[in-house]
Amino acid sequence: MVLADLGNKITAALSNVTRANVIDDKVVDDMLKEICNALVASDVSVGLVVKLRKNIKMAVNIQEMAAGLNQRKIIQKAVFDELCNLLDPGKKAYQPKKGKPNVIMFVGLQGAGKTTTVSKMANYYKRKGFNPCVVCADTYRAGAFDQLRQNATKIKVPFYGSYTEADAVKISQEGVELFKKEGKDLIIVDTSGRHKQEAGLFLEMQQIAEAVKPDNIIFVMDGSIGQAAFDQASAFKKQVAVGSVIITKLDGHAKGGGALSAVAATESPIVFLGTGEHMDDLDSFDAQSFVQKLLGMGNMKELMSTFSSVMDAEKAPELAARLAKGKFSLRDMYEQLTNLMKMGPLNKVLEMMPGMGQLSAMMKGTGHDSSAKLKSMLTIMDSMTADELDSDKPLKEQSRVIRVAKGSGKSVREVEELLEQHKAFSKMIGKIGKTNIGPGNRNQAQ
Ligand code: GDP
Repeated sequence: MVLADLGNKITAALSNVTRANVIDDKVVDDMLKEICNALVASDVSVGLVVKLRKNIKMAVNIQEMAAGLNQRKIIQKAVFDELCNLLDPGKKAYQPKKGKPNVIMFVGLQGAGKTTTVSKMANYYKRKGFNPCVVCADTYRAGAFDQLRQNATKIKVPFYGSYTEADAVKISQEGVELFKKEGKDLIIVDTSGRHKQEAGLFLEMQQIAEAVKPDNIIFVMDGSIGQAAFDQASAFKKQVAVGSVIITKLDGHAKGGGALSAVAATESPIVFLGTGEHMDDLDSFDAQSFVQKLLGMGNMKELMSTFSSVMDAEKAPELAARLAKGKFSLRDMYEQLTNLMKMGPLNKVLEMMPGMGQLSAMMKGTGHDSSAKLKSMLTIMDSMTADELDSDKPLKEQSRVIRVAKGSGKSVREVEELLEQHKAFSKMIGKIGKTNIGPGNRNQAQ
Protein backbone atom coordinates (compact mmCIF):
# COMPACT_ATOMS: atom_id res chain seq x y z
CA MET A 1 0.00 0.00 0.00
CA VAL A 2 1.46 3.38 -0.96
CA LEU A 3 1.86 6.04 1.70
CA ALA A 4 -1.05 8.22 0.56
CA ASP A 5 -3.40 5.21 0.72
CA LEU A 6 -2.06 4.29 4.14
CA GLY A 7 -2.85 7.81 5.37
CA ASN A 8 -6.35 7.64 3.90
CA LYS A 9 -7.02 4.23 5.46
CA ILE A 10 -5.93 5.37 8.93
CA THR A 11 -7.91 8.59 8.64
CA ALA A 12 -10.98 6.59 7.60
CA ALA A 13 -10.56 4.24 10.59
CA LEU A 14 -10.34 7.25 12.92
CA SER A 15 -13.40 8.84 11.32
CA ASN A 16 -15.41 5.70 12.05
CA VAL A 17 -14.62 6.21 15.73
CA THR A 18 -15.64 9.87 15.55
CA ARG A 19 -18.92 8.93 13.89
CA ALA A 20 -19.82 6.07 16.24
CA ASN A 21 -22.73 6.86 18.56
CA VAL A 22 -21.26 4.92 21.45
CA ILE A 23 -17.64 4.05 21.86
CA ASP A 24 -17.09 0.55 23.14
CA ASP A 25 -14.42 -2.11 22.86
CA LYS A 26 -15.78 -3.27 19.53
CA VAL A 27 -15.44 0.19 17.95
CA VAL A 28 -11.86 0.43 19.18
CA ASP A 29 -11.03 -3.11 18.04
CA ASP A 30 -12.49 -2.50 14.58
CA MET A 31 -10.45 0.66 14.26
CA LEU A 32 -7.29 -1.12 15.38
CA LYS A 33 -7.92 -3.96 12.95
CA GLU A 34 -8.22 -1.53 10.04
CA ILE A 35 -5.16 0.46 11.05
CA CYS A 36 -3.05 -2.67 11.60
CA ASN A 37 -4.11 -4.22 8.28
CA ALA A 38 -3.19 -1.01 6.49
CA LEU A 39 0.22 -0.89 8.18
CA VAL A 40 0.99 -4.51 7.30
CA ALA A 41 -0.12 -3.86 3.72
CA SER A 42 2.41 -1.00 3.67
CA ASP A 43 5.17 -3.42 4.62
CA VAL A 44 5.52 -2.47 8.28
CA SER A 45 6.79 -5.56 10.09
CA VAL A 46 4.18 -7.62 11.90
CA GLY A 47 6.19 -7.42 15.14
CA LEU A 48 6.07 -3.61 15.12
CA VAL A 49 2.37 -3.60 14.26
CA VAL A 50 1.57 -5.96 17.14
CA LYS A 51 3.48 -3.67 19.49
CA LEU A 52 1.65 -0.60 18.22
CA ARG A 53 -1.69 -2.34 18.69
CA LYS A 54 -0.84 -3.32 22.25
CA ASN A 55 0.30 0.18 23.16
CA ILE A 56 -2.83 1.81 21.75
CA LYS A 57 -5.00 -0.68 23.61
CA MET A 58 -3.16 0.15 26.81
CA ALA A 59 -3.57 3.91 26.32
CA VAL A 60 -7.26 3.54 25.48
CA ASN A 61 -9.03 1.92 28.38
CA ILE A 62 -12.72 2.28 27.51
CA GLN A 63 -13.99 1.08 30.89
CA GLU A 64 -12.05 3.74 32.75
CA MET A 65 -12.66 6.57 30.30
CA ALA A 66 -15.37 9.17 30.81
CA ALA A 67 -17.81 9.12 27.91
CA GLY A 68 -18.05 11.83 25.29
CA LEU A 69 -15.75 13.90 23.15
CA ASN A 70 -12.84 13.20 25.43
CA GLN A 71 -12.87 9.51 24.53
CA ARG A 72 -12.52 10.28 20.86
CA LYS A 73 -9.67 12.70 21.52
CA ILE A 74 -7.85 10.16 23.69
CA ILE A 75 -8.18 7.50 20.99
CA GLN A 76 -6.97 9.87 18.26
CA LYS A 77 -4.05 10.98 20.37
CA ALA A 78 -3.07 7.39 21.20
CA VAL A 79 -3.07 6.45 17.50
CA PHE A 80 -1.14 9.58 16.60
CA ASP A 81 1.45 9.02 19.35
CA GLU A 82 1.99 5.37 18.46
CA LEU A 83 2.42 6.16 14.76
CA CYS A 84 5.03 8.74 15.78
CA ASN A 85 6.77 6.19 18.01
CA LEU A 86 6.90 3.78 15.12
CA LEU A 87 8.96 6.30 13.15
CA ASP A 88 10.91 7.96 15.90
CA PRO A 89 13.91 6.20 17.42
CA GLY A 90 14.00 8.87 20.14
CA LYS A 91 17.48 10.04 19.19
CA LYS A 92 18.39 13.49 17.94
CA ALA A 93 20.12 13.68 14.58
CA TYR A 94 23.18 15.87 13.97
CA GLN A 95 22.20 19.36 12.85
CA PRO A 96 24.80 21.35 10.89
CA LYS A 97 25.67 24.60 12.65
CA LYS A 98 26.66 27.80 10.96
CA GLY A 99 30.09 29.28 11.65
CA LYS A 100 32.05 26.00 11.56
CA PRO A 101 33.00 23.56 8.81
CA ASN A 102 30.43 20.75 9.10
CA VAL A 103 31.80 17.69 7.33
CA ILE A 104 29.12 15.22 6.26
CA MET A 105 29.95 11.88 4.69
CA PHE A 106 27.40 9.91 2.66
CA VAL A 107 27.47 6.11 2.55
CA GLY A 108 25.19 3.50 1.00
CA LEU A 109 24.89 0.89 -1.70
CA GLN A 110 25.23 1.74 -5.38
CA GLY A 111 21.96 2.94 -6.85
CA ALA A 112 20.53 3.94 -3.46
CA GLY A 113 20.50 7.56 -4.55
CA LYS A 114 23.60 8.87 -2.75
CA THR A 115 24.97 11.14 -5.46
CA THR A 116 21.55 12.60 -6.21
CA THR A 117 20.85 13.15 -2.52
CA VAL A 118 24.24 14.79 -1.88
CA SER A 119 23.27 17.50 -4.37
CA LYS A 120 19.72 17.76 -3.03
CA MET A 121 21.02 18.25 0.49
CA ALA A 122 23.58 20.85 -0.63
CA ASN A 123 20.73 22.68 -2.34
CA TYR A 124 18.54 22.43 0.77
CA TYR A 125 21.19 23.94 3.04
CA LYS A 126 22.13 26.57 0.48
CA ARG A 127 18.54 27.79 0.74
CA LYS A 128 18.97 27.93 4.50
CA GLY A 129 21.92 30.29 4.09
CA PHE A 130 24.76 27.77 4.36
CA ASN A 131 27.76 27.82 2.08
CA PRO A 132 27.80 24.17 0.95
CA CYS A 133 30.22 22.34 -1.33
CA VAL A 134 30.54 18.74 -2.52
CA VAL A 135 33.43 16.30 -2.83
CA CYS A 136 33.19 13.31 -5.17
CA ALA A 137 35.04 10.40 -3.55
CA ASP A 138 33.08 7.85 -5.57
CA THR A 139 35.81 6.46 -7.77
CA TYR A 140 34.02 3.13 -8.23
CA ARG A 141 30.99 4.10 -10.32
CA ALA A 142 32.07 5.44 -13.72
CA GLY A 143 29.44 8.17 -14.04
CA ALA A 144 29.54 9.47 -10.46
CA PHE A 145 32.11 12.22 -11.13
CA ASP A 146 30.20 13.78 -14.05
CA GLN A 147 26.84 13.34 -12.35
CA LEU A 148 27.88 15.14 -9.19
CA ARG A 149 29.77 17.84 -11.08
CA GLN A 150 26.76 18.54 -13.29
CA ASN A 151 24.39 18.68 -10.35
CA ALA A 152 26.79 20.94 -8.44
CA THR A 153 26.96 23.30 -11.42
CA LYS A 154 23.18 23.30 -11.66
CA ILE A 155 22.71 24.30 -8.04
CA LYS A 156 25.78 26.54 -8.10
CA VAL A 157 27.86 24.93 -5.36
CA PRO A 158 31.61 24.29 -5.56
CA PHE A 159 32.70 20.79 -6.53
CA TYR A 160 35.91 18.87 -5.91
CA GLY A 161 36.87 15.59 -7.59
CA SER A 162 39.31 13.95 -9.97
CA TYR A 163 38.92 12.09 -13.24
CA THR A 164 42.27 10.38 -12.94
CA GLU A 165 42.91 9.79 -9.24
CA ALA A 166 41.60 6.38 -8.14
CA ASP A 167 42.41 6.76 -4.45
CA ALA A 168 39.09 7.79 -2.89
CA VAL A 169 40.70 8.44 0.50
CA LYS A 170 43.19 10.89 -1.01
CA ILE A 171 40.50 12.75 -2.95
CA SER A 172 38.22 13.11 0.02
CA GLN A 173 41.03 14.32 2.26
CA GLU A 174 42.26 16.87 -0.30
CA GLY A 175 38.73 18.08 -1.05
CA VAL A 176 37.78 18.52 2.58
CA GLU A 177 41.05 20.32 3.40
CA LEU A 178 40.68 22.67 0.45
CA PHE A 179 37.09 23.58 1.28
CA LYS A 180 37.91 24.05 4.95
CA LYS A 181 40.62 26.53 3.95
CA GLU A 182 38.10 28.32 1.76
CA GLY A 183 35.82 28.71 4.77
CA LYS A 184 32.96 26.54 3.51
CA ASP A 185 30.55 25.62 6.32
CA LEU A 186 29.01 22.46 4.86
CA ILE A 187 31.32 20.00 3.13
CA ILE A 188 29.48 16.94 1.80
CA VAL A 189 31.54 13.93 0.75
CA ASP A 190 29.96 11.42 -1.64
CA THR A 191 31.56 7.98 -1.30
CA SER A 192 31.40 4.87 -3.47
CA GLY A 193 28.77 2.20 -3.18
CA ARG A 194 28.82 -1.42 -4.29
CA HIS A 195 26.04 -3.63 -5.54
CA LYS A 196 25.97 -5.46 -2.24
CA GLN A 197 27.43 -5.11 1.21
CA GLU A 198 31.02 -6.30 0.88
CA ALA A 199 34.36 -6.02 2.62
CA GLY A 200 35.98 -3.69 0.03
CA LEU A 201 33.19 -1.15 0.42
CA PHE A 202 33.29 -1.17 4.19
CA LEU A 203 37.08 -0.88 4.32
CA GLU A 204 37.03 2.16 2.03
CA MET A 205 34.25 3.77 4.07
CA GLN A 206 36.24 3.31 7.26
CA GLN A 207 39.41 4.74 5.70
CA ILE A 208 37.60 7.81 4.38
CA ALA A 209 35.92 8.34 7.75
CA GLU A 210 39.32 8.09 9.42
CA ALA A 211 40.81 10.61 6.95
CA VAL A 212 38.11 13.31 6.94
CA LYS A 213 36.75 12.84 10.49
CA PRO A 214 33.15 13.64 9.55
CA ASP A 215 30.80 15.34 11.99
CA ASN A 216 28.05 13.10 10.70
CA ILE A 217 27.80 10.00 8.54
CA ILE A 218 24.55 9.75 6.64
CA PHE A 219 23.43 6.37 5.39
CA VAL A 220 21.35 6.61 2.21
CA MET A 221 18.93 3.80 1.53
CA ASP A 222 16.49 2.95 -1.23
CA GLY A 223 13.03 3.09 0.38
CA SER A 224 11.54 0.51 -1.92
CA ILE A 225 13.40 -2.35 -0.24
CA GLY A 226 10.77 -2.53 2.49
CA GLN A 227 11.51 -4.62 5.54
CA ALA A 228 15.00 -5.52 4.32
CA ALA A 229 15.86 -1.98 5.45
CA PHE A 230 16.49 -3.14 8.99
CA ASP A 231 19.27 -5.57 8.06
CA GLN A 232 20.90 -3.18 5.60
CA ALA A 233 20.89 -0.25 7.99
CA SER A 234 22.20 -2.46 10.81
CA ALA A 235 25.03 -3.77 8.61
CA PHE A 236 26.21 -0.25 7.75
CA LYS A 237 25.88 0.89 11.37
CA LYS A 238 28.15 -1.93 12.46
CA GLN A 239 30.90 -0.81 10.10
CA VAL A 240 30.89 2.98 10.50
CA ALA A 241 29.39 5.42 12.96
CA VAL A 242 26.18 6.11 11.02
CA GLY A 243 24.54 9.15 12.65
CA SER A 244 21.45 9.53 10.52
CA VAL A 245 19.58 8.10 7.57
CA ILE A 246 18.02 9.39 4.36
CA ILE A 247 15.46 7.17 2.68
CA THR A 248 15.09 7.75 -1.05
CA LYS A 249 12.52 6.92 -3.71
CA LEU A 250 9.54 7.43 -1.45
CA ASP A 251 7.74 9.11 -4.30
CA GLY A 252 4.95 7.77 -6.41
CA HIS A 253 4.09 4.21 -5.65
CA ALA A 254 6.67 3.37 -3.02
CA LYS A 255 5.25 1.45 -0.09
CA GLY A 256 7.50 3.32 2.28
CA GLY A 257 6.01 2.13 5.54
CA GLY A 258 8.41 -0.80 5.68
CA ALA A 259 11.61 1.15 5.19
CA LEU A 260 10.55 4.01 7.44
CA SER A 261 9.63 1.86 10.42
CA ALA A 262 12.46 -0.63 9.91
CA VAL A 263 15.12 2.05 9.87
CA ALA A 264 13.67 3.72 12.94
CA ALA A 265 13.86 0.31 14.62
CA THR A 266 17.67 0.39 14.13
CA GLU A 267 17.62 3.52 16.32
CA SER A 268 18.83 5.71 13.48
CA PRO A 269 17.03 9.01 13.13
CA ILE A 270 15.75 9.65 9.61
CA VAL A 271 16.63 13.19 8.54
CA PHE A 272 15.29 13.46 5.01
CA LEU A 273 13.15 11.58 2.55
CA GLY A 274 13.93 11.57 -1.17
CA THR A 275 10.70 12.00 -3.09
CA GLY A 276 11.81 12.27 -6.71
CA GLU A 277 14.68 12.79 -9.10
CA HIS A 278 14.69 16.59 -9.04
CA MET A 279 16.81 18.77 -6.80
CA ASP A 280 13.80 19.98 -4.80
CA ASP A 281 12.49 16.49 -4.13
CA LEU A 282 13.85 16.25 -0.62
CA ASP A 283 11.63 16.51 2.46
CA SER A 284 13.12 17.09 5.87
CA PHE A 285 11.86 14.39 8.19
CA ASP A 286 10.33 14.74 11.60
CA ALA A 287 8.12 11.89 12.83
CA GLN A 288 5.35 14.13 14.15
CA SER A 289 5.20 16.30 11.05
CA PHE A 290 5.28 13.20 8.88
CA VAL A 291 2.33 11.61 10.69
CA GLN A 292 0.43 14.92 10.58
CA LYS A 293 0.96 15.11 6.84
CA LEU A 294 0.11 11.42 6.40
CA LEU A 295 -3.19 11.95 8.14
CA GLY A 296 -3.91 15.14 6.17
CA MET A 297 -3.57 17.33 9.26
CA GLY A 298 -1.07 19.68 7.58
CA ASN A 299 1.94 20.91 9.41
CA MET A 300 1.61 24.46 10.58
CA LYS A 301 4.75 24.23 12.68
CA GLU A 302 7.00 23.47 9.73
CA LEU A 303 5.16 25.97 7.57
CA MET A 304 5.52 28.78 10.07
CA SER A 305 9.15 28.06 10.70
CA THR A 306 9.93 28.06 6.96
CA PHE A 307 7.70 31.07 6.47
CA SER A 308 9.36 33.07 9.21
CA SER A 309 12.83 32.21 7.94
CA VAL A 310 12.11 33.89 4.60
CA MET A 311 9.67 36.55 5.70
CA ASP A 312 10.68 40.15 5.54
CA ALA A 313 11.16 40.87 9.25
CA GLU A 314 10.22 44.53 8.93
CA LYS A 315 6.93 43.80 7.24
CA ALA A 316 5.90 40.90 9.48
CA PRO A 317 4.15 42.94 12.20
CA GLU A 318 2.28 45.01 9.61
CA LEU A 319 1.07 41.89 7.81
CA ALA A 320 0.14 40.22 11.10
CA ALA A 321 -2.02 43.22 11.98
CA ARG A 322 -3.73 43.14 8.57
CA LEU A 323 -4.36 39.40 8.80
CA ALA A 324 -5.78 39.77 12.28
CA LYS A 325 -8.38 42.08 10.70
CA GLY A 326 -9.03 39.44 8.03
CA LYS A 327 -7.52 41.63 5.28
CA PHE A 328 -5.48 40.10 2.50
CA SER A 329 -5.05 42.11 -0.69
CA LEU A 330 -3.65 41.00 -4.01
CA ARG A 331 -0.48 42.91 -3.08
CA ASP A 332 -0.25 40.87 0.11
CA MET A 333 -0.56 37.78 -2.04
CA TYR A 334 2.11 39.11 -4.40
CA GLU A 335 4.53 39.63 -1.52
CA GLN A 336 3.73 36.28 0.08
CA LEU A 337 4.11 34.41 -3.18
CA THR A 338 7.50 36.03 -3.60
CA ASN A 339 8.32 34.68 -0.14
CA LEU A 340 6.95 31.27 -1.06
CA MET A 341 9.27 31.24 -4.08
CA LYS A 342 12.16 31.57 -1.65
CA MET A 343 10.79 28.70 0.43
CA GLY A 344 10.83 26.18 -2.37
CA PRO A 345 8.29 24.63 -4.67
CA LEU A 346 4.69 25.54 -4.05
CA ASN A 347 3.47 21.97 -3.75
CA LYS A 348 5.90 21.41 -0.86
CA VAL A 349 4.49 24.48 0.86
CA LEU A 350 0.93 23.38 0.22
CA GLU A 351 1.66 19.98 1.73
CA MET A 352 2.35 21.73 5.01
CA MET A 353 -1.03 23.42 5.04
CA PRO A 354 -4.01 21.69 6.61
CA GLY A 355 -6.35 20.38 3.97
CA MET A 356 -4.09 21.41 1.10
CA GLY A 357 -2.33 18.07 0.70
CA GLN A 358 -4.67 17.04 -2.08
CA LEU A 359 -4.11 20.19 -4.07
CA SER A 360 -0.40 19.63 -3.73
CA ALA A 361 -0.75 16.02 -4.89
CA MET A 362 -2.81 17.25 -7.82
CA MET A 363 -0.09 19.66 -8.84
CA LYS A 364 2.47 16.89 -8.53
CA GLY A 365 0.30 14.49 -10.48
CA THR A 366 0.07 16.84 -13.43
CA GLY A 367 3.82 17.20 -13.39
CA HIS A 368 3.19 20.91 -13.10
CA ASP A 369 6.30 22.91 -12.41
CA SER A 370 5.06 24.82 -9.40
CA SER A 371 7.78 27.47 -9.58
CA ALA A 372 6.76 28.24 -13.17
CA LYS A 373 3.17 28.45 -11.97
CA LEU A 374 4.18 30.90 -9.24
CA LYS A 375 6.12 33.03 -11.71
CA SER A 376 3.13 33.11 -14.02
CA MET A 377 0.94 34.31 -11.14
CA LEU A 378 3.41 37.08 -10.35
CA THR A 379 3.49 38.11 -14.02
CA ILE A 380 -0.29 38.48 -14.02
CA MET A 381 -0.20 40.63 -10.89
CA ASP A 382 2.55 42.76 -12.44
CA SER A 383 -0.08 43.91 -14.93
CA MET A 384 -2.47 45.13 -12.25
CA THR A 385 -2.71 48.71 -11.11
CA ALA A 386 -1.63 49.74 -7.61
CA ASP A 387 -5.30 50.24 -6.69
CA GLU A 388 -6.21 46.76 -7.82
CA LEU A 389 -3.33 45.26 -5.87
CA ASP A 390 -4.13 47.18 -2.71
CA SER A 391 -7.90 46.77 -2.72
CA ASP A 392 -9.45 44.54 -0.11
CA LYS A 393 -12.34 43.89 -2.48
CA PRO A 394 -12.14 41.14 -5.08
CA LEU A 395 -11.37 42.22 -8.62
CA LYS A 396 -14.51 41.27 -10.50
CA GLU A 397 -15.12 43.50 -13.54
CA GLN A 398 -14.64 41.55 -16.74
CA SER A 399 -13.12 44.59 -18.53
CA ARG A 400 -10.34 44.70 -15.91
CA VAL A 401 -9.77 40.97 -16.12
CA ILE A 402 -9.42 41.23 -19.91
CA ARG A 403 -7.05 44.21 -19.57
CA VAL A 404 -4.83 42.32 -17.09
CA ALA A 405 -4.84 39.23 -19.34
CA LYS A 406 -3.74 41.30 -22.34
CA GLY A 407 -1.13 43.18 -20.37
CA SER A 408 0.45 40.03 -18.96
CA GLY A 409 0.23 37.97 -22.12
CA LYS A 410 -1.91 35.39 -20.30
CA SER A 411 -5.39 34.09 -21.02
CA VAL A 412 -8.53 35.39 -19.31
CA ARG A 413 -8.93 31.91 -17.80
CA GLU A 414 -5.49 32.19 -16.19
CA VAL A 415 -6.32 35.58 -14.67
CA GLU A 416 -9.61 34.21 -13.36
CA GLU A 417 -7.77 31.25 -11.92
CA LEU A 418 -5.41 33.60 -10.12
CA LEU A 419 -8.34 35.51 -8.65
CA GLU A 420 -9.83 32.22 -7.48
CA GLN A 421 -6.48 31.36 -5.94
CA HIS A 422 -6.41 34.72 -4.20
CA LYS A 423 -9.77 33.89 -2.71
CA ALA A 424 -8.50 30.50 -1.52
CA PHE A 425 -5.25 31.96 -0.21
CA SER A 426 -7.16 34.68 1.67
CA LYS A 427 -9.09 32.00 3.48
CA MET A 428 -6.00 29.95 4.17
CA ILE A 429 -3.83 32.85 5.23
CA GLY A 430 -6.72 33.95 7.41
CA LYS A 431 -6.35 30.64 9.22
CA ILE A 432 -2.62 31.18 9.60
CA GLY A 433 -3.35 34.67 10.93
CA LYS A 434 -5.55 33.14 13.59
CA THR A 435 -2.80 30.69 14.53
CA ASN A 436 -0.57 33.64 15.40
CA ILE A 437 1.72 35.06 12.83
CA GLY A 438 3.02 37.74 15.16
CA PRO A 439 6.81 38.01 15.16
CA GLY A 440 7.13 36.90 18.76
CA ASN A 441 5.37 33.60 18.41
CA ARG A 442 5.53 32.65 14.76
CA ASN A 443 7.68 29.63 15.39
CA GLN A 444 5.38 28.11 17.94
CA ALA A 445 2.28 28.22 15.79
CA GLN A 446 0.92 24.72 15.41
P1 GDP B 1 24.14 6.26 -6.11
O1 GDP B 1 24.70 5.13 -6.92
O2 GDP B 1 23.78 5.83 -4.73
O3 GDP B 1 24.98 7.49 -6.13
O4 GDP B 1 22.72 6.60 -6.78
P2 GDP B 1 22.26 7.79 -7.74
O5 GDP B 1 22.26 9.08 -7.01
O6 GDP B 1 23.02 7.76 -9.01
O7 GDP B 1 20.74 7.37 -7.98
C1 GDP B 1 20.37 6.19 -8.65
C2 GDP B 1 19.07 6.45 -9.41
O8 GDP B 1 18.03 6.70 -8.48
C3 GDP B 1 19.15 7.65 -10.32
O9 GDP B 1 18.46 7.36 -11.51
C4 GDP B 1 18.43 8.74 -9.53
O10 GDP B 1 17.83 9.69 -10.38
C5 GDP B 1 17.38 7.92 -8.81
N1 GDP B 1 16.94 8.54 -7.54
C6 GDP B 1 17.67 9.01 -6.52
N2 GDP B 1 16.88 9.47 -5.52
C7 GDP B 1 15.60 9.30 -5.95
C8 GDP B 1 14.31 9.57 -5.37
O11 GDP B 1 14.14 10.07 -4.25
N3 GDP B 1 13.23 9.25 -6.15
C9 GDP B 1 13.36 8.68 -7.39
N4 GDP B 1 12.25 8.40 -8.07
N5 GDP B 1 14.55 8.41 -7.94
C10 GDP B 1 15.64 8.71 -7.24
